[in-house]
Amino acid sequence: MTSHRPQPRPGILDISPYVPGKSGAKGAKIHKLSSNESPLGASPAALATYRAAAGELALYPDGSATALREAIAGRYGLRPETIVCGAGSDELLQLLAHAYLGPGDEAIYSQYGFLVYPIAIMANGAAAVVAPETDETADVDAMLARLTPRTRMVFLANPNNPTGTYLPFSEVKRLHAGLPSHVLLVLDAAYAEYVRRNDYEAGVELVSTFDNVVMTRTFSKIYGLAALRLGWAYCPSHVADVLNRIRGPFNVSMPAQAAGVAAIADQGFVEVAVAHNERWLPWLAHELAALGLKVTPSVGNFILVHFPLEARRNAAAADAYLQSHGLVVRRMEAYGLAPALRISIGSEEANRDLIAALKDFLR
Ligand SMILES: *Cc1c(COP(=O)(O)O)cnc(C)c1O
Repeated sequence: MTSHRPQPRPGILDISPYVPGKSGAKGAKIHKLSSNESPLGASPAALATYRAAAGELALYPDGSATALREAIAGRYGLRPETIVCGAGSDELLQLLAHAYLGPGDEAIYSQYGFLVYPIAIMANGAAAVVAPETDETADVDAMLARLTPRTRMVFLANPNNPTGTYLPFSEVKRLHAGLPSHVLLVLDAAYAEYVRRNDYEAGVELVSTFDNVVMTRTFSKIYGLAALRLGWAYCPSHVADVLNRIRGPFNVSMPAQAAGVAAIADQGFVEVAVAHNERWLPWLAHELAALGLKVTPSVGNFILVHFPLEARRNAAAADAYLQSHGLVVRRMEAYGLAPALRISIGSEEANRDLIAALKDFLR
């Protein structure tokens, strides 16, 4: 009799749980290319700082992450009061949804948008409204066409995961210009550091100018600190105030704060990671296309690859084959992209192993 036990609020049981990338068998030599983690790991300076933090684990962290917010602010020329740190940007996305959405509200995201958005939206009893994409790219007109009097938020990952496509700043501005001022636009720029395009802007300018835009960033991707769970949001002051009221008082651990400060200081390491991606993203895209596979143009640290539909060569068969060769990639059923696999840019060895294995698979 399920009606006698505690019931979650409406919407929660409609959520499909987020399925993280597989890790592969412990011990066996594997290349994990399923979660867009950095093949270069973290900055040695950040690791040293993290280890040094072990001596102070009995103490609570600085609840306002002052040193970290100052480091981020210094790096980007922002005011520290406008930055809120979180246990990954996931936490900040959840907090934003929690603060601004409730039953009866709607929030818009795009067709192949990051699946954390519908989870955050529905967890707060609001309706997740999907706007179709064009060429696996967010479509501003389609998003604006789904505005209703109930719309309270719009989520845009730019670049998007899992497609790797992006909107130029002119399109992001057009999206913002079409929103009423009470609708909050969340720009999730988790992969911003990888983008080398003159027409791209992560969102700083919009947040600085308007009261209804937030940008979220992460230390999980280019900084190679995914295990620590560290992200930040650049917010208008009134939004920072709201997030600071509802977040846990110690939501970011001391070792994460300390490592984050050291990571921000080591921009030379970030440049090495960007250069690695600049070399291997085009290489992988080229090699995959040479195998006859359709590749969605990516500006991130991963590529969406489309496989033939015939059973022997489809994405499921390719995934099984790659896995048996120690290459763990991401299946895309949850995104409605079953014929595709998402493959993170790996180390040189991983990238070469991947192409060699796919050559054998498609032979
Ligand atoms: C990886 C990723 C994040 C980062 O999540 P964290 O919680 O900071 O690890 C956010 N948004 C998108 C689109 C991502 O792919």
